[in-house]
Formats: sequence, C-alpha cells, structure tokens
Amino acid sequence: MNEPADLVVVGAGPAGLAATATALSGGLRVVLVDSGTTVGGQYWRHPPEHARAAIATGDLHHGLRTYRALCRALAAHRAAGRLDLLLGHHAWSAVREGDGFAVHAVDRRDAPRETTVVLRAPRLLVATGAYDRQLPFPGWDLPGVLTAGGLQALLKGGGVAAGSRVALGGTGPFLLPVAAGLAARGVEVVAVCEAAHPRAWLRHPVPLLRNPGKWAEGAGYAATLARHRVPVRPRTAIVAAEGGARVSAVRIASLAPDGSPRPGTERRVEVDAVGVGWGFTPQLDLLVPLGCALTESADGNAVAAVDADQRTTVPGLYTAGETCGVGGAALAVNEGRLAARSVLADSGTDPAPANRPPTALRSAVARQRAFARAMALAHPVPPAWPEWLTDGTVVCRCEEVTAGAVRAARADGAHDHRQVKQLTRAGMGWCQGRMCGPAVHCLTARGRAYEPAERLVATPVTLGALADLDEGPQTPQTPQSPRAAQSPRAAQAQQAPTDNGHTDKECS
Ligand SMILES: Cc1cc2nc3c(=O)[nH]c(=O)nc-3n(C[C@H](O)[C@H](O)[C@H](O)COP(=O)(O)OP(=O)(O)OC[C@H]3O[C@@H](n4cnc5c(N)ncnc54)[C@H](O)[C@@H]3O)c2cc1C
Repeated sequence: MNEPADLVVVGAGPAGLAATATALSGGLRVVLVDSGTTVGGQYWRHPPEHARAAIATGDLHHGLRTYRALCRALAAHRAAGRLDLLLGHHAWSAVREGDGFAVHAVDRRDAPRETTVVLRAPRLLVATGAYDRQLPFPGWDLPGVLTAGGLQALLKGGGVAAGSRVALGGTGPFLLPVAAGLAARGVEVVAVCEAAHPRAWLRHPVPLLRNPGKWAEGAGYAATLARHRVPVRPRTAIVAAEGGARVSAVRIASLAPDGSPRPGTERRVEVDAVGVGWGFTPQLDLLVPLGCALTESADGNAVAAVDADQRTTVPGLYTAGETCGVGGAALAVNEGRLAARSVLADSGTDPAPANRPPTALRSAVARQRAFARAMALAHPVPPAWPEWLTDGTVVCRCEEVTAGAVRAARADGAHDHRQVKQLTRAGMGWCQGRMCGPAVHCLTARGRAYEPAERLVATPVTLGALADLDEGPQTPQTPQSPRAAQSPRAAQAQQAPTDNGHTDKECS
C-alpha cells in the first residue's frame, strides 16, 4: 500500500476480520496486524497452509461461510492495494501521536531475529481478543496440565491431541467443544468436570429464548459427547493433579454450592493430560496505556468501556470482540462490523450499501451480549475455590510464588494483585501476570472486578529491536524497519502487499 493508512486494526480474529472487511468496503485503506501466522484468531484457528490438506479440522469449526466470505473480501482489497496484511507481527505498544496513533510492532517472521515496524493512522481499532483464565490448584504446573483453550488450539492448529486419556475441568460451555473435538479423535475423555449446575441457566430465560442458535450448537456437542460416552459431571471440579515427570492422575471432588469440595467425595482418576478453563480474560494491554476507560463485566473481569457503536472513551480509538467482554465469535463479528461503521462515520465516509444497517447490528449485539451476561452469571468462579489450594501451591509460575506467600502478603495488608506483586514478585515474570493475575486478584480482592496491570510493553521485545527505533527516519503509514534492507522477507512485505508471507489461499 503506497498511500497513508486510514485505519490500523490490531487482531485478525473474528472481530478484527469483520471490522477490516467493513472498513475496506467503505473505501478506507487499512493495515491489519496479527501476531499469528494465519488470520482467524482463536475461533477460526487453522493449521498452517502447508499442512492443511493433511490435517482435518472441519468438524471443529462453525461459521466457516462467514470466515471464507471475510477472507475473500480481504484478498480482493489486498490485490487492489488497499490492505496491508501483516501476519507474524506482534504489536507491543500503541501511543497517541499528533491527531492519530502510532502502533509499534515486532516482525517475528524471521525469528529469532526481530525487526521493528511502526504503523501510523488517524484511527486505531483494537481487536486483541482474550486469553484463558486460570485458577491454580495443587499440581496445575505439572507437564500435561494445559488450559482448555490450549488443548483446543493444539487440535485446531495442528490436529494434535495432547493426551490419550484426558480430564477436563473448570466452568463454561467452552469445555464442551473441547471435549467433543477430543472424543471425535479417539481420545478417552474420562470426565468433563463442570463446577456450575445447569439449573443456573434457568434464572435467565429471556436471553436463552432469544438465542436459539446457541442451544442448537450446545445440543450438537451434547450429542457427540453422548455418542462417545463422555461423562459430564455438574458441580464437580478437578481439585488436584498428581504425577512425576508429567501428570498421571487427577483428584475430582463434588462441590457444595459455594464451590468447596464436599468431604468424602474426592476420587482419583488416572489420566495423561488435563485441560482446565475458567472462562477468559480480555486482552487489554494496548488499550489500558492509551487511557481507555474500563468497566466491570458479569464474569468478574474489567473490560473496555464502549458506547453503543464500539467507540472507546479515547477519541479515534475503537475496540470490538472479547476486549469488550467474553461472548463468542458471532458477537465479535457483529461488534467488529459496528466498530468499523463508526470509523467510517467518524471519517465522513459512507459504508457500502450492502453492509448490514447499524440498527440491526446494534440489536444483534445487545441480544448476544445479554446471552454472554447470562453465561457469565450461570458459570461463576466458585467463591470457595481458594480452599483447594495448599500453602505450597504455586500461584505465580514465572516467579514461583506460592499461595502461602500470597496469603501472607494479604495478612500484611496487600489488598490487590499490584500490592501482592510489590511484596512477593507474583506477576513480575515473563508473562507479566497474565496467568496468575486473575488468581492473585481472587485471593486478595474478592468482590471487585479484575483489572490487569498497565503494561507499557505488551510482549517481551529484544533490546536490538528497541534500539532500531532510534535509527533513521520512519515514513508515516507503511511498516518501516531499519533492518528491512537486511531481511528479504521484510523487504518483500513492504514492497508487495500481496506477498508478505501470507498467501490468499491461507484464508480459504
Ligand atoms: C486459546 C483459545 C481458544 C479458543 N477456542 C475457541 C473455540 O474453539 N471455540 C469458541 O467458540 N471460542 C473459542 N475461544 C474463545 C474465542 O476467543 C472467541 O470466541 C473469539 O475468537 C473471539 O474473537 P475476537 O476477534 O474477539 O478475538 P480472537 O479470536 O482471540 O482474536 C484476537 C487476535 O488478536 C491477535 N492479537 C492479540 N494481541 C495482539 C497483539 N498485541 N499484536 C498482534 N496481534 C494480537 C491474536 O493473535 C488473535 O489472532 C478461544 C479462546 C482462546 C483464548
């Protein structure tokens, strides 16, 4: 793309793809950045192009027609030179610059070498999704214990089942597709331990009735699980994992309504892999330092505060998808479209007439958000969960901080994860609290929403890449790197928007 971009979109998941396609259809020039090697985000994660023919993942996907239509739209605009698609680029910072934004990213396609790029545009749309919310328990750091999302990512991204005898635990409907995908590949899923009780859904009849598609999807998973005789156990939890070099068994207990294990119900089940998921935590790293206001969502997370059309509280900054609260891919797509319509309106441009009108999008978003809220209320983190932890259970894996140390910090007056970090180093390691932050928060500041710490650098960046920033002038919109001349692929990326390491076929 030779002209300045009108919009930078970070994240090529359902929200970012839909936003990009809508913005392009209105005539904007867009740079779309994603740290992954293919577009699609978590929901439409696919194996790399060279392996797709050999790995069957079709049964794991829904909404592929929408995905393919979005990919076709992007491919056409790329060919026309209106879209720069930068895969393998991780945005580590976004800052205000003049009337617009500068997004700093590292190009990791030539890893381990990293090169910096700066992307500038008057408007920025952040669609960075979410990551698995984890609650520690004894043994959760054993090899073979994964997040539920991690198990799903291995399946969708590589056709890999992490074990042959797997236990799943946590809460929320997401456990069902993971179990169904594994069972359909011959994995023995010994139990799906759901901490909540399905009766909790009955308290939210209206969102249930207004989202029949969700029930159809749930019924499909239930049929697969029944066919493979996978037991789904409500009000139970994996309260410990055991093993040596890797996990060899889990302890499963029935839960009282507050989530405390019922005495005498614990049993040991042999497994070779475990998947645990307690919902997701929105990925707000780029939004928080820009001053975007947050609000509380029903699942106990802080999420980006947006108006009815996905504008954040920062002028020129928009966000869509799971940064606004966890609610699934269909909602993310609608929010992405709505956000892009706002970008178009604020740029004085009309969207293409074929696009869905904003009133229809707003009403779909409201309906799907109501369902997401019901889901969060029906699948809460059990209040008594900390009872599962011994003082020796590691909570922060990077810095090896135990539950005992966190409790001692709380006894010393720490009342949120930031203060615990100052006293114990929990959250100070490589992942910067992404894994342990929600758990430390639950252990110290219950009753308040979890707000992630402000991270000025959203991903670890090499000093060499940072040093690049001081070298040489950088032109406004296109990715610029002083090292580009040394890297044939990076040079290619700048010259030819249709050949920057991602073929159009990868979208199909
Ligand atoms: C591991 C995992 C697996 C999941 N699997 C499923 C599933 O199988 N089925 C289901 O219904 N839901 C799944 N979900 C929930 C899923 O996130 C949503 O339903 C849906 O994908 C949300 O769409 P989104 O566009 O908001 O975010 P995402 O799909 O998460 O897309 C966000 C994109 O932003 C990119 N990104 C994030 N930060 C940066 C950055 N700083 N720089 C550059 N790129 C960045 C990511 O690489 C990603 O491609 C999963 C979630 C996780 C965390």
